[in-house]
Amino acid sequence: MATPARMVQLCCPSCQSSHWTIDCDYTGAHPLGKKELYYDEREYTCPNCGKTSCGYIVLQKSPVEFFLQPSEHYPMSQQEFDHWLRIFKAYFPDHPRLSRVGKDWHPLQKPKLRKGRTVLNVIIGGTAGIVTVVLLFFPLTTGTRDFLFFASIAVLLACHVVLKQYGRKLSQRRTEAAS
Ligand SMILES: [Zn+2]
Repeated sequence: MATPARMVQLCCPSCQSSHWTIDCDYTGAHPLGKKELYYDEREYTCPNCGKTSCGYIVLQKSPVEFFLQPSEHYPMSQQEFDHWLRIFKAYFPDHPRLSRVGKDWHPLQKPKLRKGRTVLNVIIGGTAGIVTVVLLFFPLTTGTRDFLFFASIAVLLACHVVLKQYGRKLSQRRTEAAS
């Protein structure tokens, strides 16, 4: 099986100019009975001098996770994603994948932010659960009942506002990345 595609910057052996292409480290040729070629054994056409040859030198490669976003297993920071997206936009301005930016192609949110969301959800669930149990099973005065009721509403509203802000921040980031 081929390894994930990545952007590869190659240096032409004839004129030493560089260009970007999209290729895989391993193309999966070997199991099909063909020889697996390394980058310097593959033929590329240089956009500068027009020569088609092998012997290209790899200058840099985008991380494997770039085209795999969003991925639980290969998370990527927004900063790093934006860096590679700038290169992708610059060298592949007509690539159809660009229309997916911010839709189904975006870095997976940072674990820190995800954790914050989980904590908030636990607070919401916990508050609702505790208040329900107390209201149902404890003999309370009307005043205490009212206090508990309004206090829990306040906590839930606060969590709701924070979660909304959080969602807005995330979508803002995605639009920023898309623009
Ligand atoms: Zn060249």
